[in-house]
Amino acid sequence: NISTKSYLRHVESMRILPSGAGRIPELKAVILGESLASEENDLVFPSDDFCNQALVSSPEKYLEMYKRSIEDPAGFWSDIASEFYWEKKWGQQVYSENLDVTKGTINIEWFKGGITNICYNCLDANIKSGSGDKIALYWEGNEPDVDGSLTYKQLLERVCQLANFLKDKGVKKGDTVIIYLPMIMELPITMLACARIGAIHSVVFAGYSAESLHQRVVDCKPKIVITCNAVMRGKKIIDLKNIVDAALLESSQNGISVDLCLTFENESAMKKEDTKWQKGRDIWWQDVVPTYPTTCDVEWVDAEDPLFLLYTSGSTGKPKGVLHTTGGYMIYTATTFKYAFDYKDSDIYWCTADCGWITGHSYVTYGPLLNGATVVLYEGVPNYPDSGRCWEIVDKYKVTIFYTAPTLVRSLMRDGNEYVTRYSRKSLRVLGSVGEPINPSAWRWFYNVVGDSRCPISDTWWQTETGGFMITPLPGAWPQKPGSATFPFFGVQPVIVDEKGNEIDGECSGYLCVKSSWPGAFRTLYGDHERYETTYFKAFPGYYFSGDGCSRDKDGYHWLTGRVDDVINVSGHRIGTAEVESALVSHPQCAEAAVVGVEHEVKGQGIYAFVTLVEGVPYSEDLRKSLVLVVRNQIGAFAAPDRIHWAPSLPKTRSGKIMRRILRKIASRQLDELGDISTLADPSVVDQLISLADS
Ligand code: ATP
Ligand code: MG
Repeated sequence: NISTKSYLRHVESMRILPSGAGRIPELKAVILGESLASEENDLVFPSDDFCNQALVSSPEKYLEMYKRSIEDPAGFWSDIASEFYWEKKWGQQVYSENLDVTKGTINIEWFKGGITNICYNCLDANIKSGSGDKIALYWEGNEPDVDGSLTYKQLLERVCQLANFLKDKGVKKGDTVIIYLPMIMELPITMLACARIGAIHSVVFAGYSAESLHQRVVDCKPKIVITCNAVMRGKKIIDLKNIVDAALLESSQNGISVDLCLTFENESAMKKEDTKWQKGRDIWWQDVVPTYPTTCDVEWVDAEDPLFLLYTSGSTGKPKGVLHTTGGYMIYTATTFKYAFDYKDSDIYWCTADCGWITGHSYVTYGPLLNGATVVLYEGVPNYPDSGRCWEIVDKYKVTIFYTAPTLVRSLMRDGNEYVTRYSRKSLRVLGSVGEPINPSAWRWFYNVVGDSRCPISDTWWQTETGGFMITPLPGAWPQKPGSATFPFFGVQPVIVDEKGNEIDGECSGYLCVKSSWPGAFRTLYGDHERYETTYFKAFPGYYFSGDGCSRDKDGYHWLTGRVDDVINVSGHRIGTAEVESALVSHPQCAEAAVVGVEHEVKGQGIYAFVTLVEGVPYSEDLRKSLVLVVRNQIGAFAAPDRIHWAPSLPKTRSGKIMRRILRKIASRQLDELGDISTLADPSVVDQLISLADS
């Protein structure tokens, strides 16, 4: 680790920060001697070796770039955009925006008039610059001995064949295509083929029920649905084609019929002859796609033409159809990928997210491929055949950048270190986390055990709506604090506002908003611009409101405290869910925790905690007490849970996020008001929890 002395050198130069640099994060505070001394234990420094090779190697380098990105966004982003291929350059105005509902309709545009194609930039452009024979995708099947790979050239050929098929079937620019595929190479291939011909893809996570798929079909009326017959997840076989059939039947009964269903035969899971088939509508991928030519002209599109729509994961209510356009999204995902993971040409990158989520769009497919990266795709689940699978994959492909979610970190932590230390993991150099706040104890385990205290962790805060990272460490640029997403990415101005919408400065806590647009911002909710304006721009006029709570510490570090709808108000203290959960999870016998507020006669609200214990630990009254004590000691008596509810597991979205709105109903015994549980990964968890309610 770098010495305090060499860090202070960084700090010295920070002092030359121009005052009045506006809302530029107060990195300089980190550096003040006293704060360093008092918090030395909380700061995790990147090593000198890491800093020496990092793209952004010091706070001052970051500040220089950040400052320019805020003071001259047009110049900053057009310099970056110029490194990409544009058939025609954008118009005079790099961007235009209105984020203020009181001034008219919300409108965000970047690089309007610029003509480009994101598939071209991902594939053709990299091949032209000499990366044609580099591996674009490694694919690891559910079974450890099933795998494959495609070079950039091979990937382009596959994409072109499918693009030609789609064109032949009449799919045109602006048409929507639903993709319901598991993590096989055909998934990114299909996304790229749509992008190549200007069709709008809508990936639906292949694990969603027929009902959820049907809703999305009705919402976006696709020309075609692309799926595969089945997939193995661990030992479980999932008959995807059956689900699609049921969804399409229901849709046609509701007046939306889909005439074409292209089905890939995923041989290792199910044979053709066992697959249910609807003649006239269904076509086998393998029968037709390979017969098409391996080259296909691109459809040049405007930067503001839609690229895809994607539904949010539904943690807080009915999923929203987020629409992203082409140019700004392209520049933003490429740039955030590059800097937040300190990407180098030699990296092998693995993100465990499914392409059914935004993370799989921006950081499995587009961001990495735009950078010419080698990406690992994994079809299966992280604990099959056992909990060491992730590290087996890391060693097998020599993965250097590993990006995952706190839920996975917590579950592997619960399974014990032996599964990790059995593998070398020497190739790893950067780790990443996304999806929920990462509890400091999970952060430390990830850092110390998985990363051997060598790899910075990029705890990336962002949303489906933001397209790319908003607040994230840049590895090597500054010391980290376990559990903090640290500082904003270039071009992003996060502000914390109070109830009345006033920006608050310095050490504070409140509602996380963003002032002014960034290239990757979503442009609307599909077919419902009004819901877009009401959900995100009405609460605090002039700002994009994220829906998340955040606090900033005296050093300027950002800490996400959870959804503001989940904030608990105990006797006037506003308590974020993340803080209490992190305290509980720091107890060695607690694997996972979720807290919600329940009505309380005296305090207004009381804290109700659902707790999952480490494998094999029995429930006991003593343990209950010691869990409450941990919270008392770490936060204060006011935050002590009133109730601990043992939870063998927690209700989560399919992307692994805890669904607190359901827990709230269970806690207050409003069992007939559970709401939409269709996006839950395992709905049976709910019954299990209800049955344990009074134990
Ligand atoms: P819905 O909007 O339908 O409720 P969702 O918000 O879960 O679904 P996503 O867009 O996938 O859908 O998730 C974004 C949210 O995830 C953020 O608003 C935030 O609450 C949480 N989140 C993501 N990354 C982080 C992170 N690094 N730290 C803290 N929270 C995070
Ligand atoms: Mg959300």
